[in-house]
Amino acid sequence: MVASEAMPFAKTGGLADVVSALPRALVRLGHAVDVVIPRYRGITAGDRVARVAVPLGTSVTDADIYAVTSAGVRTLFVDHPAYFDRECLYGVGNEDYADNAARFAFLARAAVEWAAAAGERYAVVHAHDWQTGLVPLLLRHTMAGAAAFRGVPAIFTIHNLAYQGLFETSWLPRLGLEWELLHVDAIEFWGRISFLKAGIVFGSRITTVSPQYAREIQTPEFGFGFDGILRSRSAHLSGILNGIDYDEWDPARDRHLPVPYDASRLDGKDAAKRLVLELVGLPADDEGRRRPLVGMISRLVDQKGFDLLADLGDELPRLDASFVLLGSGERRYEDVWRNLAARHPQRIAVRIGFDEAMAHRIEAGADVFLMPSRFEPCGLNQMYSLRYGTVPVVCATGGLCDTVRNVDPATGEGTGFTFGDCSPPALLAALRRALDAYRHRPVWRRIQAAGMAQDFSWESSARQYAALYERAYNK
Ligand code: ADP
Repeated sequence: MVASEAMPFAKTGGLADVVSALPRALVRLGHAVDVVIPRYRGITAGDRVARVAVPLGTSVTDADIYAVTSAGVRTLFVDHPAYFDRECLYGVGNEDYADNAARFAFLARAAVEWAAAAGERYAVVHAHDWQTGLVPLLLRHTMAGAAAFRGVPAIFTIHNLAYQGLFETSWLPRLGLEWELLHVDAIEFWGRISFLKAGIVFGSRITTVSPQYAREIQTPEFGFGFDGILRSRSAHLSGILNGIDYDEWDPARDRHLPVPYDASRLDGKDAAKRLVLELVGLPADDEGRRRPLVGMISRLVDQKGFDLLADLGDELPRLDASFVLLGSGERRYEDVWRNLAARHPQRIAVRIGFDEAMAHRIEAGADVFLMPSRFEPCGLNQMYSLRYGTVPVVCATGGLCDTVRNVDPATGEGTGFTFGDCSPPALLAALRRALDAYRHRPVWRRIQAAGMAQDFSWESSARQYAALYERAYNK
């Protein structure tokens, strides 16, 4: 696997969790996995195991490869201080580093050179997101004739289509890429080049992080301009849901909770609710604890539906519920929620910031988890919520659609409440349905139990990736 981040070495987002958890799960299934990432500033793990010559444009630069093995996974670090010994991974503040094209072309080429020289015949190479989009291009175009790569498929996974690795065409010669690649059927994208498109066009198989998102990105609404090219590859495009880390997110052994609990004894959930109410300053008396608590943990951005919530504003505290929001992001949404909380201190509490312990407590202490995302490649919080017996209310999009089953009003079967059209009235209606169900304890208990019984372990995701690797390899 080749990626730009992996836990515990370097992380800016969920990609790092996947690139750490998936290899471990594959190893538990009996596979051998090496992961290649840059040797960023601060990474001290590993010993030097090799040196590879990395051609880029007209120059060839040596890169040392460091390696460390943990939980059966070997991580290889590409060392090139001029590119990777920097303050941040991709740029400072909102400014990307000006030479990101060269930095990540270097990573891709170094990984491929390592694979060609290592003498170990890798059966499959798997690259993640735009930063490693050139890996499939190198394997299946530039170095397609190399004996080491004969029959070796290049899998490419899209974790976030919003980041496309777009660069000026003048980079082509500097990266050693032929001008013929500047073509709509290759890596050209509206007058520039796109590393993401390189992965999509040259990948033997393309995956994204949920089946529904795999369908959605082939439509103009969700495709960010890539829907056409994705449609043309649809026979080789599929979605595999991310897993969640049950070592971290399991109410039976969550160190952040006052009393652990599981589906057979939910009293720990009441203890967590009381704790959250007290911590955020909402009423925690009998009346306050009886009232359903709606939790939200999120980046405060449009993607997560915060514009819909802002439209509802003072409608929310009119419901028979309390609300707690933990999040950070756009200033205007922070202000909306701070003002709401100031107007309705008995019903609405807000914590601005990033707080891991509080996130666990809200997942456990809330009765309902609200996640009205406009698009959601996979989403984690709804899966945590299901595990914690916290009933999700979500927009039926992407991974949310694949993980939350809408409660059938006739039978009461389901795990949460979904709404199809991402509008403020639809959101409000779904929330009302959830709050109504909450008042019918046996119905509610059944919904909670159905969610808690669902399996979102990495093992089942890893099995699907392994099956995909085998299909691609045997082709
Ligand atoms: P995304 O990656 O698009 O932000 P996900 O639902 O896939 O959305 O993952 C978000 C992760 O970040 C979850 O693990 C969530 O608990 C965590 N998170 C988001 N905001 C906060 C916050 N303010 N404090 C603590 N954890 C947060």
